Amino acid sequence: MNITMKFPGLEDVMVTKMEQVEDRVALHVELEVRPHQCPRCQEKTRRVHDYRIQKIKHLKWFERLTSLFYKRRRYACGACGKKFPERNSFVARYQRFSKEWNQAVHVRSVKAKTFKEVAGHYGASSSTIVRRFDVLALQEIQEPGRLPRIIAIDEYKGDTREGKYQLIIADGETRQPIDILPNRKKKTIKRYLQQHGSGVEIVVMDMSNAFKAAVQQALGKPVIIADRFHFCRYIYWALDGVRRRVQKNWTDYDRKKGKRMRYVFHKNSGKL
Ligand SMILES: [Zn+2]
Repeated sequence: MNITMKFPGLEDVMVTKMEQVEDRVALHVELEVRPHQCPRCQEKTRRVHDYRIQKIKHLKWFERLTSLFYKRRRYACGACGKKFPERNSFVARYQRFSKEWNQAVHVRSVKAKTFKEVAGHYGASSSTIVRRFDVLALQEIQEPGRLPRIIAIDEYKGDTREGKYQLIIADGETRQPIDILPNRKKKTIKRYLQQHGSGVEIVVMDMSNAFKAAVQQALGKPVIIADRFHFCRYIYWALDGVRRRVQKNWTDYDRKKGKRMRYVFHKNSGKL
């Protein structure tokens, strides 16, 4: 069998054989001999040196995973003797996956619910998909330049490899998130602010002393503002301490009732 067809993503490829190997479709492919320019001396050559079979995982075809067995040709330069592989449009050198496969996985790894789902669909391991995603994410993330005059710092629970908690850095005026730090260690935030925070004058943050120390050491003497949420939380905690102390000697029944009604103390007096 020798078909030259324009398969999407496999233009100009000759399919010399197609077979079913277990649940995969195996396509044996090669390219026509064409003049190639020597990468060393720029002379043109058509001299074939040898062939290597490169096995490449490709997209599904009729709902079956496909593999390409690419008989990749190497040319030899007639002028300088340099040996080099032929150009092709569907796979990069030393890659086990086709370009089309990579593109599809990039899109799906962002949109799918889980990496495992993508892995199952495209016939790869989850860790392969995660690695692809990481590479993609790195390309997408731009290093922030200088931080704005007012920033807000807060932690959230993201449960990543780097730690349970991460730090969000946001613009204190527009509230747009600027960056996420991998963990909430003092060292991490200090180094980050030293690199990017030369223009920061005001920091809105919670009232933890560890954060405060890191911010002050990195930025000198910025104005630190306790954000309203954390500020109020301290007041609620203090108020609740008083409530418990007063209600401690009440009977069980009254004390439980008092506990259930504790939010009444948070209410605006006009709304009681
Ligand atoms: Zn040459």
